[in-house]
Amino acid sequence: MSDKNPYLDIDRKMVGDIYTSNEVMDNLTVLCDDFGSRFPGTPEERKAAGFIAETFDRYGLTNPHLESYPYAGWRRGEATLEILEPIQKKIPCISLPYCPAQEVRGELISVGCGTPADFERLGNEIGGKIVLASSASPSGLGRWVHRQEKYERTVIGKAKVFIFISELPGVGPETGSLQDDRPAPIPGLSVCKEDGEFLARLMERKGKVELMVRTQDINEPLTSQNVIADLPGNDNSEEMVVMGCHFDGHDISQGAHDPASGMVLVMEAARALSTYARDNLKRTIRFIGFSTEEIGLIGSYRYVESHRDELDKIRFYFNLDAAGGPGRKGVILHNWHELEPFFRRAGEEMAVELPVGQHVNSYSDHFPFFLEGIPTGNMGDPEKGPSGRGFGHTRYDTLDKIETVNLQRGSCVAAQLALRIANAVSFPAMRRDEMGVQKIINSEHNLEGYRVKCELMKKR
Ligand SMILES: [Zn+2]
Repeated sequence: MSDKNPYLDIDRKMVGDIYTSNEVMDNLTVLCDDFGSRFPGTPEERKAAGFIAETFDRYGLTNPHLESYPYAGWRRGEATLEILEPIQKKIPCISLPYCPAQEVRGELISVGCGTPADFERLGNEIGGKIVLASSASPSGLGRWVHRQEKYERTVIGKAKVFIFISELPGVGPETGSLQDDRPAPIPGLSVCKEDGEFLARLMERKGKVELMVRTQDINEPLTSQNVIADLPGNDNSEEMVVMGCHFDGHDISQGAHDPASGMVLVMEAARALSTYARDNLKRTIRFIGFSTEEIGLIGSYRYVESHRDELDKIRFYFNLDAAGGPGRKGVILHNWHELEPFFRRAGEEMAVELPVGQHVNSYSDHFPFFLEGIPTGNMGDPEKGPSGRGFGHTRYDTLDKIETVNLQRGSCVAAQLALRIANAVSFPAMRRDEMGVQKIINSEHNLEGYRVKCELMKKR
């Protein structure tokens, strides 16, 4: 009923346009098929940034521009993994981003899924060894154990090499960076599930397995860039809403779901809002395409550092990383209970299923904003339990798996929510102070991986 939805007219125009347009899938096709993986430091990554900026300009946004920054670059070299004892055999493998160039011989040891309990059980036994860890997380733990947490515990345990096994059959090796914005201290490789199972069986049946690992990756400084554009609000307040997603993918993949399906939602929301809401917009909405997320959230950390004077003005940062896949398009708030009624009411107004819940993790571009105490959330299904990446971070994260209707649904939710956050008379969340942030970091079950990262940084 119209009296219950003050934005009914704009909603109808935005939703109607999004559902009768191919624009969002066309943009995804350009990002994936013309620019490939858009891996940081490649010409395709720079071209993708240019395309996003030009598209923002075409949609009528103000001041679309690139902001460059230096970062610790990494380029893939050939990696080999050879069994020396008890048989001689080469196993196909890839090195993981920030792998150093090394030649290491050592004995294999399995840490299973590489949970804190697995590492605790093995204690000093992993020292000097080559560690084999599955990418899976045991369901009983109640949280996802990220690759970096497994790698970091491997380094803390003084092992020589880390080998990561895909949890799913038929997807090849799964990639993902070993460290954030710095060369990793020890090599890390990835093998497919089938070869990982083979190595584990060999250990079980024959006892000692001796391996030789050779990596030739190049770690040297490079430059990357974020893309930023505004849709200015009409009142004189300097407050803004920020919506973003990274556009860089992994070099072995098109990164169609993660991240590009989310990047095109940001672009489509920008188009709809610019076309139908600009005259009624109270506060500015800023749209950002971040780069170098896959190798350490570098773009979003750099943004927060270089826009420090504006952080107080951000009402909400909405992260859309990989948000255009299947599943419900709700709001996952990062420990902002006071915001739940606001988003529930928005869902009622919009007459859509908009599940709202709380869950924080440290593995996407919201996290640098979260660390600054800024109210943050991401699009997703808050009731979905911890799960693996599926084909994500493998060469099979391709365009053919993305459905237009999911992109359209996500674009509508993004545009309609951004409008409501920007126009609310007051927004029921205030920036947290440092102590408030630290309290969550110290206590949150899902931030265990971040605490391990901090521990490793202190040791170096
Ligand atoms: Zn992502």
